[in-house]
Amino acid sequence: MNLADILYIVVPCYNEESVLGETSARLKIKMQGLIAARRIAPESKVLFVDDGSRDKTWDMIASLHHADSLFSGVKLAGNRGHQNALMAGLMTAKELADVTISMDADLQDDIDCVDRFLDKYADGCDIVYGVRSDRKSDTAFKRGTAQLFYKIMAGLGVNIVYNHADYRLMSKRALEGLARFREVNLFLRGIVPLIGYKTDTVEYERGERFAGESKYPLRKMLSFAWDGVSSFSVRPIRMITVLGFVVFAVSLCLMVYSLIVKLLGHTVPGWSTLMISIWLLGGLQLLALGVIGEYIGKIYGEVKARPQFIIETVLDENSLCH
Ligand code: UDP
Ligand code: MG
Repeated sequence: MNLADILYIVVPCYNEESVLGETSARLKIKMQGLIAARRIAPESKVLFVDDGSRDKTWDMIASLHHADSLFSGVKLAGNRGHQNALMAGLMTAKELADVTISMDADLQDDIDCVDRFLDKYADGCDIVYGVRSDRKSDTAFKRGTAQLFYKIMAGLGVNIVYNHADYRLMSKRALEGLARFREVNLFLRGIVPLIGYKTDTVEYERGERFAGESKYPLRKMLSFAWDGVSSFSVRPIRMITVLGFVVFAVSLCLMVYSLIVKLLGHTVPGWSTLMISIWLLGGLQLLALGVIGEYIGKIYGEVKARPQFIIETVLDENSLCH
């Protein structure tokens, strides 16, 4: 790492007046230590993103900024949700920083990990994921559902880092890669691994929320989880196609069976025709839905217009990109 790299810590905040005082105080000590040790440039900052809070969050951010230029702020025009707020902060920091670290406002993520993040960055990593070593601080329910979620995602073929929330370091070029993902349904944990580059993980123990309440009630958590699945996997559609094939195959067996039963004379009139048509039609309908779904899956891929590749290095004297 260049000794004078500018670090921006990006913190999305929604109605966080009860934690901001403590969070900013602790981050200030951390940043001052890092600046004094010349691990980061003196221009480094903590960037708070106010996600349309209805309490005094923005006033607090503004007074922090006026009191100390270490703190800067971005205010969104309305509440757009955690992922969008984080993206707004990262895209602002992309222009100003060499490296960013995103973390929540509630001090659940261990601030001391920042040093280990920077060590990995110095080793050449462009993305470093903070991974929870345990979930003691979560309720059994949250722990269970979260773990089930990671398993389902893995089963659906989505590449996400196990037990990683949005506590991560990203270099400037990783952010430039991220900026090329134009999708509006943001699920950053799924997108970031698609960027590439050298990555690593750092384990930490996640603590309790310092004050205030979780901004992720069950309803938001479920819709977030569904966003994750539906933004990254077309397997649910593929399942319809598979089911269609199965029902169709069953209908063929059933056809043979009902004809035999009919020939043996064990049926009431109309039974065979009814049985065959119900299964055959059901199977055909599912198959047809599956086929339509496959095309929708293709459209979905095209509409997202994700970058097909991100080039890391080119070895060519005539190229501008090194
Ligand atoms: N957050 C946000 N906008 C929202 C909801 C949450 O910016 O609409 C922020 C919140 O201020 C916090 C982070 O996202 O910094 C994570 O939220 P929280 O800690 O409530 O989630 P939990 O840790 O309970 O999953
Ligand atoms: Mg939290």
